[in-house]
Amino acid sequence: MRVSIFGTGYVGLVTGACLAEVGNHVVCMDIDADKVARLERGEIPIYEPGLEALVERNHAAGRLAFTTDADHATRHGEIVFIAVGTPSDEDGSADLRAVLAVARGIGRSLSDAQLVVTKSTVPVGTANKVREALREAGDGSFEPRVASNPEFLKEGAAVKDFMNPDRIIIGVADDASERQLRLLYAPFNRNHQKIVSMDIASAELTKYAANAMLATKISFMNELANLAEDVGADIERVRIGIGSDPRIGYHFIYPGVGFGGSCFPKDIRALARTAHDHGRPARILDAVEAVNQAQKQRLFEKITARFGEDLSGRTFAIWGLAFKPETDDIREAPARVLLEALWDAGARVRAHDPKAMDEIRRAYGDRDDLALFDDPYDALDGADALAVVTEWKAFWSPDFERIRTTLVQPVIFDGRNIYDPVELAALGFEHESIGRAAGTGAGDSAGHDDA
Ligand code: NAD
Repeated sequence: MRVSIFGTGYVGLVTGACLAEVGNHVVCMDIDADKVARLERGEIPIYEPGLEALVERNHAAGRLAFTTDADHATRHGEIVFIAVGTPSDEDGSADLRAVLAVARGIGRSLSDAQLVVTKSTVPVGTANKVREALREAGDGSFEPRVASNPEFLKEGAAVKDFMNPDRIIIGVADDASERQLRLLYAPFNRNHQKIVSMDIASAELTKYAANAMLATKISFMNELANLAEDVGADIERVRIGIGSDPRIGYHFIYPGVGFGGSCFPKDIRALARTAHDHGRPARILDAVEAVNQAQKQRLFEKITARFGEDLSGRTFAIWGLAFKPETDDIREAPARVLLEALWDAGARVRAHDPKAMDEIRRAYGDRDDLALFDDPYDALDGADALAVVTEWKAFWSPDFERIRTTLVQPVIFDGRNIYDPVELAALGFEHESIGRAAGTGAGDSAGHDDA
């Protein structure tokens, strides 16, 4: 099949490469000329395991092309995906300007055989707005067909998720569109039926419902973690205790420093906004967001509780800047909240992340109070304490002796509970983690979910 994808970011590029891998001819379009030029040269602008080889192979085979030419991309695809960003607007709603700009552009040269599919995460009703934009831009000789196909891939495991999805949600308004999408996804649907077909509004809402449910689990656990500290309990024991109930399960109940990334925070805000727009209070969603904002300050609060409010003259090492492991994405990352709070309090930061340091450089530029190191142990030199913010696997079993002797003081703020408090105490560390009252907890720590 011939497929076009507008927006060649995390979702568009992974979608394009994976659809090309199973034999489709894919054109990926982006307005970012630099990104398209890099892709043409074989450079992958984002870090995503397995993506580089996939892009290289399919580009070389002539099944995956990149362009800035919107008309060419529109004419190419039997199915045309919209996968551009939908960031938060000032009032929390999803900013649909890019989605609708793409629709207006596509509408100029769309034919009646083509199907336009929204893959971006968009509020209920957006497909209707896309159809309207297509109709207004077209010559009026046919009714444009639209569908919704929200994406559930997880950054860090995006290729794997796309190739082996646990469900493929398609929201359709007519049989022809459903047939086209079922055909496109047939190679990913061989093992058992994964395609869930529904009306468009339900498909649009399903994406928000999934992210909101997951974010709710995280904020719930973080609220309980803080309480556990107050009442002298160990949240890691509580986690194991409740996760063993199959109705609850172990996924997404890890306490930590809050959720970040390009999806959960903005999607929670957008869904809450939709509820408010319908005159319906979004009490749970508002609380999930508020708890998360507060939790992102948690490590900083622990640092000031230990070192005082004025941190001028202090230096802190941070391990982990990406919003989660296996990605270079720093959008709304908890590490950024910590970095900025430390700077505001006068501290300097020495940091390491396996993949996200270029993004941090791009976001903050050169500053005297930030030094980035390729070797995590170099970041410890002259630092008063180490804060672990992202649970990259390489941090799980570090050389503790080297950490202890390199830090000015042997203090670790463990934002992901990856270290055993008893072990660390025995090694001579002061160890602050999330949701474990002093003297509680051994073993049972560590772990993470792929958000
Ligand atoms: P991204 O920011 O990585 O990529 C968006 C791309 O769209 C950019 O390359 C940008 O240059 C391009 N773009 C903007 N305007 C354009 C236009 N008019 N024409 C063509 N290209 C244009 O975003 P992303 O993370 O890939 O997310 C895209 C959508 O998918 C969002 O709605 C997001 O919520 C959703 N989503 C993201 C993920 C994820 O893990 N990142 C997962 C599921 C769904």
